[in-house]
Amino acid sequence: MPLKRSTWTEDAGASRAVALEVLRNGPLSRSEVARRLALSPGSLTRLSTPLIRAGLLREVGETSGGRVGRPSQLIDVVPNAQAFAGLKLRDDRVMGVITDLRAQVHKSAERPLTSQEPEAVADSIRDLVDELGAEWKHPTAIGIGLGGRLAAHRMVRSAAFLGWDDVPLAELVEQRTGLPTILENDVVAFTEYEHWFGAGRGLSRFAVVTLGAGIGYGLVANDAVVADEDHGIGLVGHWPLDPFGPVCSEGHRGCAKSILTEGAIVTALSGALGRPVTYEEAMDLGEAGEPAARRVLDDAGEGLGRLLAAIANLTMPECIVLGGEGVRLASVAREAVERGIAKDRDPRTRKLDLVIRSGSDTEWCRGAAVLAIQSFVLGARMAA
Ligand SMILES: [Zn+2]
Repeated sequence: MPLKRSTWTEDAGASRAVALEVLRNGPLSRSEVARRLALSPGSLTRLSTPLIRAGLLREVGETSGGRVGRPSQLIDVVPNAQAFAGLKLRDDRVMGVITDLRAQVHKSAERPLTSQEPEAVADSIRDLVDELGAEWKHPTAIGIGLGGRLAAHRMVRSAAFLGWDDVPLAELVEQRTGLPTILENDVVAFTEYEHWFGAGRGLSRFAVVTLGAGIGYGLVANDAVVADEDHGIGLVGHWPLDPFGPVCSEGHRGCAKSILTEGAIVTALSGALGRPVTYEEAMDLGEAGEPAARRVLDDAGEGLGRLLAAIANLTMPECIVLGGEGVRLASVAREAVERGIAKDRDPRTRKLDLVIRSGSDTEWCRGAAVLAIQSFVLGARMAA
């Protein structure tokens, strides 16, 4: 039985807290959930019973009981109780996944964009969501991530890659699908995945850096993503890294954007070799030890290391997750990255804990699905 919104009435906030605690950390014993949320056993029973009846939570056996404690029933979410669609919008296509409640990807697919007109993009999104739903299970909600500035999770304020200003994308998609839809900056979405289900789970403070067409930065502090309306601008893109580096479009010499983006690396290596090369080719050449590629990638890697050192020095994260379609740089130039970190870190500091993701498009989409999951469980962000 699907969970009805009307289930969340007077105990709504407390019920959500129970669902959330078990979703993020389950399976947990009833006594542990009660302890974490400071609830009496009776209150927990009252709050959890409707969640179990609705098919969102289930009892999954008992703990053996501690030295003094009695056995306590374990509860967990039913991951397949609900499905969520997570999409990532690019200039030429929309990519998507369908996940369960714990953001496990069941299917992925993509559709080319035949036009960048908002209505046509919303049509493509509807077709993709229909396809994903038919492949596994009809989704409860849709999350969409894109590299741009957004307002209230509903409106695209500006997205240069689509030539959009003030497009009510969530509304256009809801009209076509009938499903609650939430928008978020793609780096925030990526960070939310790591926060709830990935490397940042259980950490109070960590950072995310994404490499690709731009440089993305996400920060979680005190168990919450730090973001404001400027987030979609790409705030670390102009962080100074090399006083002798190339010049970016804003006139900065050697900023992160001028050294670390796919465009910067491709331009530098194509210039050195006198022929056009792709990003993947640049990585392959670097890995094979081709001298021009090696130099370009090592310079970029050292710049990345200095950026990571700055993040670590200023925000003291417990770990830094590296992702994005250009993340291969972090592996191919790993020694240079470590050199860059060492340059700007006090030798007494502990070694930075780096987690390198695969860089696949699925990771962006999974982040967008987490937004839909959060909205469903927290019931707060979704207007519909
Ligand atoms: Zn710049």
